[in-house]
Amino acid sequence: MSEAADLLQRLVAISSESGKEDGVVQALEEVLRGLGWEPRREGRNLYALLGTGGPVLLLNSHTDTVPAGEGWSKPPLGVREGGRIYGRGANDAKGCLTAMILGAARAYAQDPPAGRVCLAATCEEEISGQGLGALLPLLPRPDAAVVGEPTGLAPAVAQKGLLLLTVTVRGRSAHAAWGGGVNAVHAAARDIVALSALPFEREHPLLGRPSLQVTLVKGGTRHNVIPDRCELTIDIRTTPDYRPEEIVALVQKAVGGEVEIRSRRLESVATDPGHPVVRAALAARPGTAPFGSPTVSDWVFLKDVPTVKVGPGDSRRSHTPDEYLETAELEEGVLFYERLIRGYHALAK
Ligand SMILES: [Zn+2]
Repeated sequence: MSEAADLLQRLVAISSESGKEDGVVQALEEVLRGLGWEPRREGRNLYALLGTGGPVLLLNSHTDTVPAGEGWSKPPLGVREGGRIYGRGANDAKGCLTAMILGAARAYAQDPPAGRVCLAATCEEEISGQGLGALLPLLPRPDAAVVGEPTGLAPAVAQKGLLLLTVTVRGRSAHAAWGGGVNAVHAAARDIVALSALPFEREHPLLGRPSLQVTLVKGGTRHNVIPDRCELTIDIRTTPDYRPEEIVALVQKAVGGEVEIRSRRLESVATDPGHPVVRAALAARPGTAPFGSPTVSDWVFLKDVPTVKVGPGDSRRSHTPDEYLETAELEEGVLFYERLIRGYHALAK
């Protein structure tokens, strides 16, 4: 049986929901030691340095998964069947992690590149917690980075950010039968209509325009009371063409309610398509093209580091029942990362 499929199956067999990655980190520590590396552990993050001298290429992916959830026809802790490995995390992102580890192992086993790799397996990506953001200050400063997420081995060179806002609309309560008062839910409805027409004129070549969705509405307490308060949650997927403050100002201008920023730290990021890390990724897999990704990842912590997000698998399989990775995709991933490491160091030196 293949080394890569065995390793992926071993990792998928260990449940590792965000915050509970200890078991899988311990297994990875053994795996990396078995490869002759010297892994270091910081909390539930693990990293290892390969090579000496030259630029540092960070290879990062995450060990945590979302909960298995309902609706599975296969065992969520993994089964190999019909050329596929099923299980929570097989695609997002233990397949990427497996391919990164074995790709790096191959690159440094023979004819090693003239540069270093820092491989970091980090926790809590799915909850934007104490993962890469916490580990990064302890690592040698990367000259470039690769974030392992399932992209079908095409490099994402731009990624949308997430800006989360709350709009609080206030009214004045009264008895529904008598009328009077000011209905905050009605006022919020007008705000929702205004928000759906919000103009985002600047269009990013790969990410398009920012998108805005009202995703939660909370208002009213009883059927017979005119509500005095309604709260809207707004999920905005941003592009590098708009500063978060600009978007907040646009929203504030459109609505009657009071706007508050709930989260703005997951900013949009992008890398120059001519950078060696992008060129190396494209050369490692002829026929692929750079693209813009709508989903956030740990790339947000690498704002000032030229980064590509790329890995085996398909992002649309992530977080679904019967999540899987094809063993052929996994093998291609191993070869891909080996070539990417070699190509990057050949271009960057
Ligand atoms: Zn992921």
